[in-house]
Amino acid sequence: MITSSIFFAAAESASLLKGGFLSPLVLIILVIIMIPVSLYAQFRVSSTYNRNAQIPSRGGITGREAARAVMDRAGITDVSIEVTEGHLTDHYNPITRQLVLSEENYNGTSLAALGVAAHEAGHAIQHKVGYSMLHFRMALVPATNFVSRVVPIVMLIGFFFAAGLSGMLLDIAIICYAVITLFQLITLPVEFDATRRAKAQLVDLGILDKDEMPGVNETLNAAALTYVAAFVSSLLYLLYLISSRRD
Ligand SMILES: [Zn+2]
Repeated sequence: MITSSIFFAAAESASLLKGGFLSPLVLIILVIIMIPVSLYAQFRVSSTYNRNAQIPSRGGITGREAARAVMDRAGITDVSIEVTEGHLTDHYNPITRQLVLSEENYNGTSLAALGVAAHEAGHAIQHKVGYSMLHFRMALVPATNFVSRVVPIVMLIGFFFAAGLSGMLLDIAIICYAVITLFQLITLPVEFDATRRAKAQLVDLGILDKDEMPGVNETLNAAALTYVAAFVSSLLYLLYLISSRRD
């Protein structure tokens, strides 16, 4: 009797599953594995971008002109194109209706510059046509910003005062990570859709020839991979928090 219950206890703790759920240990290992994966995804964005930033497009138009052309075709007249400092700081701001390009993409004529500029114009098109996922994402921005400020505080209190997360602190952390994970999940279709629109427009408008597209695809796909890595990391950490609560 005793030996068999010890055996079952040992079998249970050695099992990957606890009550049909992955154990906290397995999940925290997966979270740790995601750190080098995320770093690799970041590294790939830089390396593919830098490589394709060296390849000038045949048409020779700039990122700013490409973004303008894509938005003109979509009938967007109320979005201004601005230039900003920094490396890969390009974004579309739906609140101010500004398409912001980094200096190298604003003035650049490379495959990378045109790909990034058209991708940002893709976000402006999403806004114009009322793409539901973009609106969902915009609606989540205030909550995501708020919990992103709460998380470090919760972690610090847990670390210094509570010897790890437990009780109400753990519940707060779970809610915060649920919001962050949802935000990163919604980001995926938004980013993939902007890239899809960009690729179609670059060829349709004759900005790039079909044989120039692999450089664009490579650059934008590498960027998309970082969003996937961020989502997977958050999801695994959320599952870890939930499983440690069940423990
Ligand atoms: Zn984007």
